Amino acid sequence: MSTEARGKVRVEGGKYRLNGKFHYAFPNDPIRNEEGELMGVTNPRDVTHIHMYGGEAPFFENLSKGKLLGTKCENPDCDAHGSVFVPFRIHCPDCLWKNTIVDMTETANKGASVHTFMITERTGAFNTLEKPIRFVNVEFEGVSTILMGYLPVGEPEMGMKVVPIFQTKSPTFTIIDLAWVPQGTLESELPEGFSFG
Ligand SMILES: [Zn+2]
Repeated sequence: MSTEARGKVRVEGGKYRLNGKFHYAFPNDPIRNEEGELMGVTNPRDVTHIHMYGGEAPFFENLSKGKLLGTKCENPDCDAHGSVFVPFRIHCPDCLWKNTIVDMTETANKGASVHTFMITERTGAFNTLEKPIRFVNVEFEGVSTILMGYLPVGEPEMGMKVVPIFQTKSPTFTIIDLAWVPQGTLESELPEGFSFG
């Protein structure tokens, strides 16, 4: 299926405007047992899922510009006043105020550290990352949360210093535009399309 033929969405005046086809059905196949009896059918489908980012849109837009955004609770009456959240939380979980967006790129560039990690060869459907995937849980000085990411260069270790890299050449506008590499990694060692923030 060419991507040209696929449905596209734009927003005008706060309303979705859909153009093109969003559902394709393909010829099915019977499912039979050893005796040849009909048990069912397969239903091949191709569906374009519309995933709206809402208040998280600035986070994904900025990854494509080499920036890592977080958020901060600035409600003076909140017990968690001043808490910084990465991953990006639209609202403070303590007081439910709308958080303020803060640029965490510089903090991350100084060296975030690997809290823990997991290496996996078995992935879910539609995985696009190279296997094995080295998932890292990244923590920052002064940040209340731990961010999940992946390490495409090097081998992870607990406490290891890492810096963010960004898919700025052909961004997907998804979380895979953000990855982590060991501090000291050279620009020439980065995966295709990635650069430092
Ligand atoms: Zn709060």
